[in-house]
Amino acid sequence: MVNKTILVVLDGLAYQTATQCMGFLHALKEQGAATVYKMQCELPSLSRPLYETILTGVPPAISGIVNNRVARNSNQKSVFSLARQAGLTTSAAAFHWYSELYNCSPYNSVRDRHTQDPDKLIQYGCFYHEEHYADSYLYLDAESLRLRYNPDFLLVHPMNIDNAGHKAGLDSAHYRNTVRHSDNELSNYLPGWIDAGYQVLITADHGMNDDKTHGGTLSTERDIPLFVIGECFSHQQSCAPKQTEICGVICELLGIQNSNKPVTENFLLNEQLIKKQYLHEVSS
Ligand SMILES: [Zn+2]
Repeated sequence: MVNKTILVVLDGLAYQTATQCMGFLHALKEQGAATVYKMQCELPSLSRPLYETILTGVPPAISGIVNNRVARNSNQKSVFSLARQAGLTTSAAAFHWYSELYNCSPYNSVRDRHTQDPDKLIQYGCFYHEEHYADSYLYLDAESLRLRYNPDFLLVHPMNIDNAGHKAGLDSAHYRNTVRHSDNELSNYLPGWIDAGYQVLITADHGMNDDKTHGGTLSTERDIPLFVIGECFSHQQSCAPKQTEICGVICELLGIQNSNKPVTENFLLNEQLIKKQYLHEVSS
């Protein structure tokens, strides 16, 4: 069974700031519609290596994407490659490094910014290449792709939080306000995604530190949130997955065979349980 899935990667979002500043996501939590988990990112706590980890389940030291300058195609099985193999529709509104990892490297902005190619791993893409590309535009790009192409898997990747951290540091009004802004933007779209039946995961690649950077082992750099919304999740607080398991979770949701990437036990409900819950709701 294919459960359509949206993955939001909020670049550079530290766990502590997410818990303080994301009022809308926490409203969903208080209503019992969302669950938030604390995860630790793999190392190094850098963007490109961890994009690959999130989408493939493979940590940087093994994938070979060990720093931001390793600009080449991924050579791992990814959510995108597995979804394409299964004949599913893939889409992304994201920084151009995702286009380099899963479509074409090096990125050519004229050719690749707007991608519409059923033969690519990311079939329908809207990519940007400047870190200050406004999150509000990025969310619009994503929503337009969703409505136009009805993807089974959609990646949404805004960059402004990371950019604010590099300008002002973790403990700054600018960083916190940028997180609040992203939460606010999400409140425009999440209700529609939920109504359309999507399973939604919202997480980060890495966090941030007070030196206006990241890459190391500080808890503020490594601790990141995972919000999940949807009936396929168990919403049990005790079964937080690892960052390397996100890929397996998404494959499971999409009904894709991906044998070598185990999913934390009880993080997802199995199909019988979902059906039982549904029947219970219908009959009560
Ligand atoms: Zn960064």
